[in-house]
Amino acid sequence: MNEKILIVEDNKTLAKLIAKKIQASLDVEVDVAYTLTEAKLFIARYTYFLTLLDIHLPDAPNGEVVDYVTKKKLHIIVLSENIDKEFRKKILQKNVIDYINKNGVEDINYIIQTIQRLQNNQKHKVLVVDDSRIFRQQMLKILENLFFKVITVAHGEEAVGMLKAQPDISLVLTDYNMPVMDGLELTQEIRKTHTKNELCILALSSNDDDEVTALFLKSGANDYIKKPFSKEEFSCRVNNSIEALENIQMITNYANRDYLTGLYNRRYFFKAMNEYVKQVKENGETFAIGMIDIDHFKNVNDTYGHDVGDKVITSLADILRSSTNPKDLVSRFGGEEFCVVLKNTNQHRAKEIFNRLREETENFIYQLENEEYVKFTISIGAVMFNEEESLQENIDEADMLLYKVKNSGRNQVIFQA
Ligand code: GH3
Ligand code: MG
Ligand code: MG
Repeated sequence: MNEKILIVEDNKTLAKLIAKKIQASLDVEVDVAYTLTEAKLFIARYTYFLTLLDIHLPDAPNGEVVDYVTKKKLHIIVLSENIDKEFRKKILQKNVIDYINKNGVEDINYIIQTIQRLQNNQKHKVLVVDDSRIFRQQMLKILENLFFKVITVAHGEEAVGMLKAQPDISLVLTDYNMPVMDGLELTQEIRKTHTKNELCILALSSNDDDEVTALFLKSGANDYIKKPFSKEEFSCRVNNSIEALENIQMITNYANRDYLTGLYNRRYFFKAMNEYVKQVKENGETFAIGMIDIDHFKNVNDTYGHDVGDKVITSLADILRSSTNPKDLVSRFGGEEFCVVLKNTNQHRAKEIFNRLREETENFIYQLENEEYVKFTISIGAVMFNEEESLQENIDEADMLLYKVKNSGRNQVIFQA
């Protein structure tokens, strides 16, 4: 079910415009209330991800709607016409995420960006490291209001343990002065295993010593916040760091993946496999490598055109991805050639899986617009990884078996244990 947003705004034209723009650019449903009374009815009936509230309503002229929605424990963004210093202070004392101008198109775009940011924040885990319970609580409240999943701990050593237990933490917020292990030591410790592009660190300290700021940044912190901080600055810095992290991850993802199928590309394959082979040599895990090639693929292109050829390639990618374990490495080496690594498996299971991939492909039907359909098959040459030989030699071996299949009728698996 889509997430729902409630707009409470008595200017009907404006409310409808904002609702329309949000629905056109995001995957959310929007309800519009023109008065506090209407808003109460909506809130009684539905669950809302977020509310956008006008503070001057006919039946609630002084921001009463904000207090009502706060009591209902919903997330709030305030919409306002002119924002002066006094207003900002008053509004930010309340438990609202942000206040946004509603004067022009740019403001509506900002609203949309903010909603998108909040939706994405739900995917991120944040670790708060501070020995002061009051600061921990304060940060927890702001971060949860920004839709982050939050974990709090009281010192650096506890944080190191938590990072091991929860490897999907995106951001660490750390205080400087703490018992057992301080923030600087923690930052250095984290950077031994996580780069700036994998995990953000934001340092906080009430220390007026400028040297500490520089030391934090040199030790690998992404940014620095001085205590005491304003909720507004804190939120902006956290959101900015997470956004930078997401952008880097997006670019990395593009560089590692094949554009057509979304599978890993050859470049990433060798990078990841060199690491994996090292691991395997230490822990004795066994695994299989299969080279896969579509049979008579040229015929598909020649008969149905290049676009259908592309659809066949993506269909095969889907089969390979969905019929293997998420930890396995499925990559497109180029053209209609794929390489599948089945991790932590034995001969018996590997053989079974490669045969299943071949069979599922044979049974698959790609339906064209008219009554026509396309069927295709694959050939597979596969080996159990031989530690005595290099990765490339193992791949060459599998490749040779693949050509054996091609010369003996195709649509088969030759597996050498
Ligand atoms: P075999 O059974 O021996 O593998 O024959 P084949 O026709 O599959 O192999 P061949 O190497 O002769 O032809 C592969 C064709 O794949 C040639 C090339 O134009 C086409 N091809 C390569 N990459 C793509 C792609 O991304 N999209 C499409 N549609 N075709 C591609
Ligand atoms: Mg109004
Ligand atoms: Mg082929």
